[in-house]
Amino acid sequence: MTQRTRIEGSLDHRHQKQHLPFAFSVPPGATKLTIRFDYSPKISDGQSLTNDLSLTLFDPQGARGARHNNRDRNLTITAHSATPGYVPGALQPGIWTVWIDSHRLLPSSVVTFTFEIEISDEPVSEPEQVWIKGKTAPRGSGWYRGDLHGHTYHSDASWDVPDFVQYGRDYKLDFVTLTDHNTISPLAQHDSYSADDLLTMGGMEMTTYYGHALALGLRQWLEWRVDAADAAMPELADRARYAGATYIIAHPLSVGDPFCTGCDWQYPDMMPGSARCVEVWNGPWDGASNNPLALELWYSWLNQGYRMAATAGSDIHGAADYASFGFNNVYAEALREDAILTAIRQGHLYLSSGPQLELTGRASQHSGMMGDLLAGDSLTMQVTWRGCAEGDHLRLIVNGQVSEEFSCLNSGQHQWTLDTAQARWCLVEIRDAKNDMRAVTNPIFTGTEAGWR
Ligand SMILES: [Zn+2]
Ligand SMILES: [Zn+2]
Repeated sequence: MTQRTRIEGSLDHRHQKQHLPFAFSVPPGATKLTIRFDYSPKISDGQSLTNDLSLTLFDPQGARGARHNNRDRNLTITAHSATPGYVPGALQPGIWTVWIDSHRLLPSSVVTFTFEIEISDEPVSEPEQVWIKGKTAPRGSGWYRGDLHGHTYHSDASWDVPDFVQYGRDYKLDFVTLTDHNTISPLAQHDSYSADDLLTMGGMEMTTYYGHALALGLRQWLEWRVDAADAAMPELADRARYAGATYIIAHPLSVGDPFCTGCDWQYPDMMPGSARCVEVWNGPWDGASNNPLALELWYSWLNQGYRMAATAGSDIHGAADYASFGFNNVYAEALREDAILTAIRQGHLYLSSGPQLELTGRASQHSGMMGDLLAGDSLTMQVTWRGCAEGDHLRLIVNGQVSEEFSCLNSGQHQWTLDTAQARWCLVEIRDAKNDMRAVTNPIFTGTEAGWR
């Protein structure tokens, strides 16, 4: 028997950036749920932008995923299979809720929508898909290069999980991190591809209407809907961290509304609030993410006394050949997800599209590396680089200002001694002939814990 329900309605610009719930009942014995969702118009007259609606689904016990995707609006869930973005499993009887997430509704549109919900109790014969977690030998302490941000067909990318993993292997990365928008549905499959040559890490990009944040290291869905959760972003960030996630503000000064709704960070109470990691290099350095402005924002937060780490993320959505991707070069105690993420929170990393760059410091008999805090009257810093190209120049940045600059052909090293009464934090950048970033370290901080937030 198949139970059918049809829901119709209309929305306009006033419904933009809302979460609109539609409840339906699933009877005992259900084996297959199909939701066909459609709306019109997709594109308003005279505009190149689209009306963007996505769906988030809840069963009586919790979230069953989301599809942040403008191409495929139908979903099917059975015990053993689900449309990408959603999680397979038993169809618990009771009240389910499908939410429309209205990311963009153009001012000139009245959008009519329909849900056709079909629930069947016919037997479904399909094999259970079991993903066995792959293993990566941890290799011990050392430098590991990888990506902290990428997408698949489980949200809005144009490729599937095996393609994403292959990209990591093609780029000879040590780790890749899959962070689909508002869903964890690809992570079990992704983890099955871990092997000695590549560690697969996981998380979710909390893709809110007022900014995006990466929550890394979890395999559980996190509430991302600031309004529907009746919680402000600082509370959602706390929840993510209490659950064990590494929380990173993503591409904070990206182009935003109306072209990329919600892509720029607009949370006044999280500037940076409790966040201690920020993605300053998203995709190509000179792309729409406005990385130079994100770097300036990070420098201003450092100058306000926030001891924050900077990260990079390709934010890759399909086949690309971006020579100016920044990757994270992390000094971790092992090639293991928890060790990589711990090192990132400590700032033990530099970001680079090519050159190798190591920064160490020494003050009052104590030595440390980028991300560390060193107390003493003076700080001696040593930088070592390899892989620079014609036109590259190296900059010492102290408290956000260029303190010294020289060309850095190929490889070399240099040493400075700074008066810590003046130098609160310092780092090293390598820029190319156009002044685009080639590599940037995290800072060495001076003083004591009490002097930093
Ligand atoms: Zn994003
Ligand atoms: Zn992303």
